[in-house]
Amino acid sequence: MSTPNNYFQPDFSGKFGKYGGKFVPETLITPLKELEETYFQLLKDDNFNKELDKLNKEFSGRPTPLTFAEGLTNYYKRAKIYLKREDLCHTGAHKINNALGQILLAKKLGKKRIIAETGAGQHGVATATVCAKFGMKCFVYMGEVDIERQSLNVFRMKLLGAEVIPVSSGSRTLKDATNEAIRDWVTNVNDTHYIIGSVVGPHPYPMMVRNFQSIIGFETKEQIQIAENRLPDYIVACVGGGSNAIGIFYPFLNSGVKLIGVEAGGYGINTNKHCATLTLGREGIFQGMKTYLLQDNDGQVSEVHSISAGLDYPGVGPEHSYLKDEIIADYFSVSDEEAIKATELLSQKEGIIPALESAHAIAYLEKLTPSTAKDEIIIVNVSGRGDKDLYTIKNFLGY
Ligand SMILES: *Cc1c(COP(=O)(O)O)cnc(C)c1O
Repeated sequence: MSTPNNYFQPDFSGKFGKYGGKFVPETLITPLKELEETYFQLLKDDNFNKELDKLNKEFSGRPTPLTFAEGLTNYYKRAKIYLKREDLCHTGAHKINNALGQILLAKKLGKKRIIAETGAGQHGVATATVCAKFGMKCFVYMGEVDIERQSLNVFRMKLLGAEVIPVSSGSRTLKDATNEAIRDWVTNVNDTHYIIGSVVGPHPYPMMVRNFQSIIGFETKEQIQIAENRLPDYIVACVGGGSNAIGIFYPFLNSGVKLIGVEAGGYGINTNKHCATLTLGREGIFQGMKTYLLQDNDGQVSEVHSISAGLDYPGVGPEHSYLKDEIIADYFSVSDEEAIKATELLSQKEGIIPALESAHAIAYLEKLTPSTAKDEIIIVNVSGRGDKDLYTIKNFLGY
C-alpha cells in the first residue's frame, strides 16, 4: 500500500492529529490490539493480498469504470465531469470493498460469528453477502426507522441467510444500531468479529477501512491518467461516516487535487434536521473515537436527519476531522431537496440512477461547476446505485 507524500499514518494510539484513538471499554483493548497486529501481518502476506485481489476482480467486478459524463458536462458547459462507478460493484455500492477485506481478516483471526451495523442496509447486505460466501454466521443490527425505509435491503439480507436484529432505542437509526453492535461485541468478543461499515469507531478501524476502500482512489488515479493524461482538478464525494470519500481521496492527498466532501444538509443547515457534522459539529467522543460530532450544549448527541439513510449519522470518521482542520480537504452540505433534484438530473442526463447518498455529491456540481473552466476536470464518486431508494424518491416526488 503506497502512502501519499507528507501524510502521516495514525500514530501508535491511532490518532489523526488529535482525532481518532480508542475510547472503548477495557475488555476491547486486547481484541483491538490483536486486530491491529493481525491486520499488519496480513498486509505483508502475499496470499492475503492475492486472495483479496482475486475476490475484488472475480466476485465484485473490479475495477469499476471511470465514465465520462458527456450529458452532465454539456449541461453545465464548464469543467469535464467524470464519474467513478462504485454503483457497478457487486451488491450496488462501495461497501463490499471493505466487507471482503474484513471477512478475510475475520477468517485469519479464527472468528466464527460476524456482526455488523447498517443504516441504508448497503453495509448489511455487503456483510451478509461475504458471510454467505465464506460460510459465517451473520447478525446485522439495524434501526427500526431504517428497517422501514429500506425494507428491500432487509429482505436481501434475510435471503442471504443473515439475521437482522431491529434496534428500537434512541432515534432508531444508524447511530443506535452501532451502539447495539458495540454492546454485542463487548459481550461476545471471543468468537465474534465486528465488521464496521465505515471509517469510524476505535483504531484500527478508521485506518483499516480506509485502506480497503482506497482501491477506489488508486483505480481512479490510473484511469484518469489513461483518459486525460493528468490528474483531475477536483474530486467530489459524499460523506456519511466518510469511507467512500476517504477511499477516493486517499491516493490524492497533498497532490494538488482539490478534495471536496459533501454532507447531508437534510431540511437545511439553519434547521436542526440535518447531518452536517463537519460544517456545524464540534469535537466530542463518540463510539470509540474523538471526532467532530453534532451535539447539544450538554454534549448529548443530536437527533439528526437526512433523506438518505446512509448519511443519517451524527459523527464522522476522525481522519476527515483532521483533513478539515488542516484544510487538506473541504466540506460542504446539500439539502434533501437538492439531492433529489440531482438524482433526477443524473438519471435523465446520464442514464444512471444514483443512490441518494451519492446524489449529494452530484448535487454539489450545481455549486462547483460555475467557478470552473472548460479545461478543468471534476471526478465525482458515485458511491452506489439508486435501486434501494426508489420508494423514498417516489414518495418525495409525489408519484
Ligand atoms: C453507506 C453509504 C454511504 C455512506 O457511507 P460512507 O462511509 O460515508 O461512504 C454512501 N453511499 C452509499 C451508496 C452507501 O451505501
